[in-house]
Amino acid sequence: MDLFEHQAKELFADYGIPVPRGLVARTVEEARSAAEQLTGRVVVKAQVKTGGRGKAGGVKVADDAADAAVKAEAILGMDIKGHTVHKVLVEEASAIAEEYYFSFLLDRANRTFLAICSAAGGMDIEEVAHSTPEKVAKVPISAITGVDRRFAREIAIMGGLPEKSLDGAAELIEKLWCAFVDEDATLVEVNPMILSADGEVKALDGKVSFDDNAAFRQKEHEAYADKAAEDPLEAKAKEKDLNYVKLDGDVGIIGNGAGLVMSTLDVVAYAGENLPGKPSPANFLDIGGGASAEVMAAGLEIIMSDPAVKSIFVNVFGGITACDAVANGIVAAFKLLEERGESVTHPLVVRLDGNNAALGRQILHDARLKGVELVDTMDDAAKRAAELAAVGA
Ligand code: GDP
Ligand code: MN
Repeated sequence: MDLFEHQAKELFADYGIPVPRGLVARTVEEARSAAEQLTGRVVVKAQVKTGGRGKAGGVKVADDAADAAVKAEAILGMDIKGHTVHKVLVEEASAIAEEYYFSFLLDRANRTFLAICSAAGGMDIEEVAHSTPEKVAKVPISAITGVDRRFAREIAIMGGLPEKSLDGAAELIEKLWCAFVDEDATLVEVNPMILSADGEVKALDGKVSFDDNAAFRQKEHEAYADKAAEDPLEAKAKEKDLNYVKLDGDVGIIGNGAGLVMSTLDVVAYAGENLPGKPSPANFLDIGGGASAEVMAAGLEIIMSDPAVKSIFVNVFGGITACDAVANGIVAAFKLLEERGESVTHPLVVRLDGNNAALGRQILHDARLKGVELVDTMDDAAKRAAELAAVGA
């Protein structure tokens, strides 16, 4: 999970990292009153989960509250790299003497943590890293020994920070490491980390990504979830513990095993390429190993509540859960949904292979479920599901 800048800064503040005072505003009027409370010059900043806001015109300095309203008016509703701006952060403006770059991240390739530090921070850090990589220090961090104040200072020196910034930077870096570890983050980034005109080192921007695998021990992180941006179907699927991702197409997909579902998406997209309306996958849905009637019913229900779906492809390779169990799951799911008044009305193509495939097919054949077609191979089944979703079919 990624945080908005304002959330990242609230988190930083909890760890004692200096950040400018700021308030979140969702309307022009809220932005005006936020600026009134803060007094003086403020910065109005688009809150979207993407970088490059400054270059896109999403970060503007305002002289007073009236000007803040004008700037908020321009920024709210703006589209930045496909993200619509629904809120802005109004912050007291900082007098910037220097801009640095700092981040901690998980370096998967080298199986370690990494600190990245540079005196040449700010909006052009990517360009700096590309053309003058020697200006960007990359320092591996041991998970065992971590980062203390002295090491933090060494990293700042390696990044080329000047003497006058070292004390402040070392303190910020040490606290940022605490946040990174305690919050189970995979990334904490401060760009720019500034030296202000009055000599203070602070975080002027913040980016935080949490490791979702640690969600079970980070219950407070739920509060950061962006309900507004969540797809309603994905939210519903999450409630039912289904591994569902909404896609743009019209062929509903159910499979067991993430790898199989991924290749099913490819095969369906390929099958639909030359058909009228170019049918393509409507979702990713992995029902995992169990494939019980309840899970199958929940999966079918989610897929059918997507109005774009025209046909459904159930692609199962029987393993520990054999095909007869899956077939019985499908039959029971149909009954379950009928009882709930949500009968399956979409054409459904089923491909069963692997453990007990013949028995599974027999069970489905005997059940004579309305709209269900059995197809033996994955390619042919994908083709049939795409045909059923094609325009005019
Ligand atoms: P990003 O472009 O999405 O990374 O947004 P940032 O929060 O990093 O802001 C972009 C740039 O705006 C920074 O590098 C600063 O140069 C500038 N900026 C942000 N806040 C202030 C501020 O309080 N005062 C001044 N003078 N400039 C600011
Ligand atoms: Mn930035």
